[in-house]
Amino acid sequence: MKTSSAPESPYTTYMTSEIGPLPYCPGCGHHVVVKALDKALVMRQLDPKKVVIVTDIGCIGLADRYFITNAFHGLHGRAITYACGLKLARPELTVIALQGDGGCGIGGTHLLNVARRNIGITLIVANNFNYGMTGGQHSVTTPTEGLTATTPWGNVEQPMDLCGTAIAAGAAWVYRTTMFDKELPATMAQAIDQPGFAMIDVWELCTAYYSPRNKLDKAAIDNLLKKYELKVGLLADKPRAEYSDRYRKAYEAGARSASGRSPIDVQYDNAVDRQTGIVIAGSAGQKIRSTATLFAQAAMSSGLDATQKDDYPITVMTGHSLSEVIVSNERIDYTAIDAPDYFVVISQDGLKRARARIEQLPETCTLYAEESLGLPDTKARVVRLPWAATARKISRLSIAVIALAAMLRDSELFPVEAFATAISKAQKPAIAETNLKAVEAGAALAKK
Ligand code: SF4
Repeated sequence: MKTSSAPESPYTTYMTSEIGPLPYCPGCGHHVVVKALDKALVMRQLDPKKVVIVTDIGCIGLADRYFITNAFHGLHGRAITYACGLKLARPELTVIALQGDGGCGIGGTHLLNVARRNIGITLIVANNFNYGMTGGQHSVTTPTEGLTATTPWGNVEQPMDLCGTAIAAGAAWVYRTTMFDKELPATMAQAIDQPGFAMIDVWELCTAYYSPRNKLDKAAIDNLLKKYELKVGLLADKPRAEYSDRYRKAYEAGARSASGRSPIDVQYDNAVDRQTGIVIAGSAGQKIRSTATLFAQAAMSSGLDATQKDDYPITVMTGHSLSEVIVSNERIDYTAIDAPDYFVVISQDGLKRARARIEQLPETCTLYAEESLGLPDTKARVVRLPWAATARKISRLSIAVIALAAMLRDSELFPVEAFATAISKAQKPAIAETNLKAVEAGAALAKK
């Protein structure tokens, strides 16, 4: 076996013997599929550090740990989704999903979408017509009249043609074969070579359940293929642009700026010394979310990373509207605010929604509130300000701008001017003019 310390010698296997032999029943087709994949990898001599084998639940899902490549094992029916995520994030990796017919049924939509999008993963389906791991229940590929634990009288369903389904969804490269195909390793290597989505449907034996119950052997598999008029071999070979490649190119070509967005330049300093969470609680119609976005953009123009999460009912213009903004000089990996540093309560709706959180605020938090609101007991430092009265003089739609300008002036997280600049850049001149007055009035309320 090739190791990283001896890169000049070729890999003779990609499987490890450290955890013993494969865990499959005698005669199980999974032996053949897994060993064929090993041979295919040997044929291509890929760096195991750059290969990921993705599996989900089912007997075939036990295979990934027997390889020296990277592995990802997840929920039943989701192998394709994990594989797609890996490929989108790390396009340089060779991503191979191993999935049973059960997983293909559970995650049928994922099969449609990977084929439609043409994401460059290889999908190998170990198709043995039943759920072997759980005792041989029928799956989407169980033939009509097939006997399983859940169809003891004979399956009444029409089996799903996995290849036909993938092709109908636009799959670029599709191959059907059986575990008796001597060319299986070479075919898998060919599938791995495809830049777009490639799928091999391998019909095989579950010798513990489906085969004994249905006398399924090589000849019987051939008869099933004839019965359903299904061909083996290469069924689709229509190469087209791979999705993650196209996605990246579109992004790099400036798709974002073409849609009217422009990068945010850093123009201001900030005084943020740790990840800081700000909750803004108001009413629908008070421009809470759009003002929080301007606030986050102002934070970014002050050199900060920012995230925003919103909470509002399914209705519009009624009920609460909450925004949570996190700002930090470091990358923000956790986007929830467990203990807010600043809490801004603008209206009765916001107070009603946030009351339980306000009661739990730590003494390190500053709570800014419209002065007419009756607040619950809290350990937070409380600053009450006449935002509603101020908004009545400017515009009732500017109350969130007034509140955040006051909070910003008091907290000094970053300059109030950054907030004003974000407003000027993002809003139409007439609206910006009103909101710039609101910024000035809000900051004046909290003037130090
Ligand atoms: S139960 Fe069936 S699929 Fe699972 S290992 Fe045994 S023969 Fe293979």
